[in-house]
Amino acid sequence: MVRFADRMNLLTGSEIRELLKLTAQPDIISFAGGLPAPELFPVEGMKEASMKTLDEMGRAALQYSTTEGFVPLREKIVARMKAKNNIDTDVDHVLVTSGSQQGLDFSARVFLNKDDVVLLESPSYLGAVNAFKACEPKFIEVPTDNNGMIMEELEKILAKTENVKMIYVIPDFQNPSGRTWTLERRHKFMEIITKYEIPVIEDNPYGELRFENENMPSLKSLDTKGLVIFLGTFSKILAPGYRLGWVCAEAEILAKYNFMKQAADLQASTVAQMETNTFLDMYDLDEHVNKIKEVYGKRRDCMLKAMDAHFPKECTWTHPDGGLFTWVVLPEYINAKEMATQCLEKKVAYVPGGSFFPNGGHENTFRMNYSCMPEEKIEEGIKRIGEVIKANLR
Ligand code: PMP
Repeated sequence: MVRFADRMNLLTGSEIRELLKLTAQPDIISFAGGLPAPELFPVEGMKEASMKTLDEMGRAALQYSTTEGFVPLREKIVARMKAKNNIDTDVDHVLVTSGSQQGLDFSARVFLNKDDVVLLESPSYLGAVNAFKACEPKFIEVPTDNNGMIMEELEKILAKTENVKMIYVIPDFQNPSGRTWTLERRHKFMEIITKYEIPVIEDNPYGELRFENENMPSLKSLDTKGLVIFLGTFSKILAPGYRLGWVCAEAEILAKYNFMKQAADLQASTVAQMETNTFLDMYDLDEHVNKIKEVYGKRRDCMLKAMDAHFPKECTWTHPDGGLFTWVVLPEYINAKEMATQCLEKKVAYVPGGSFFPNGGHENTFRMNYSCMPEEKIEEGIKRIGEVIKANLR
């Protein structure tokens, strides 16, 4: 009998990944995934960038390279964070990772001992919770409303909890809720964490996908004490397949992430970094992101309109200004997991919300993704879900 480490008892495969296997059949209208729309990937441009990279610097591209990452790409990341997130930094404060998911894994390993406390939004990103679990922390969920994390609740928790080692937040178009923190909350949050001096992981994969209204300053841009660790990624603005993300943090903190990177996989893929960098030299990423926003914005409109038409007044849902998701709350007596089986019979899928709460409960919620389905299917799928919800009403 092989004997595993105790921590393996805490780790299970993501329920969502299991569900996605079921929903991959072509006749299912799936709002379950969180994938970017593949028809928008710049395949031709990437092909050209890849050929050019291999023609002009093939040997370097296929070689090992530094742990920190390819300097020209990091320079572009620095410029992008300045333009989009109002962050003033330089290449020495950026480490390229294998997606922002790796940044989450490292964050846990850099900050958490067993039984340390992590605070996070309730609900929060399941992939982060799973990554953190390997370090066996305790999770305390901070209540949220439509304006993001509720600061009075955060203060109450901090005042009575010892050993809070890290706060994990997604202030822009959160996964799973689609919510964005207001400016006022951001300032208040920074005031509080500056007082308590707790490191903050600001995960920002969706911030650039804003369909309307003004960009919000990142928490990192409001950070005066070097407490915020900003995680960025090319996954949602370009393509997730290259697995390129980054960590931006103060030197002392970033050095720890660098050690983690060395130990985990030495470096991010050289060829992926170089090809992406060539692509960014050849094409205007802003133009590409605008195209993505136009398509997702229309799909969001279509989904919200269909929900207005087909969902009963007993449910509520969020109205995101960007990102990939909306979040539905059913009457408390309806279990969204049980209802998902009924929906699958009608060939339509979503992700039940319970798994986004590390401490359980909230089974009357579910997450809907709108980026991946054409508008006709969105309309039809929402109609079917609406019928199932109505059949479950008391
Ligand atoms: N954070 C959040 C909130 C996400 O939704 C995702 C992807 N779904 C990630 C991080 C990981 O993305 P990646 O590793 O592709 O950058």
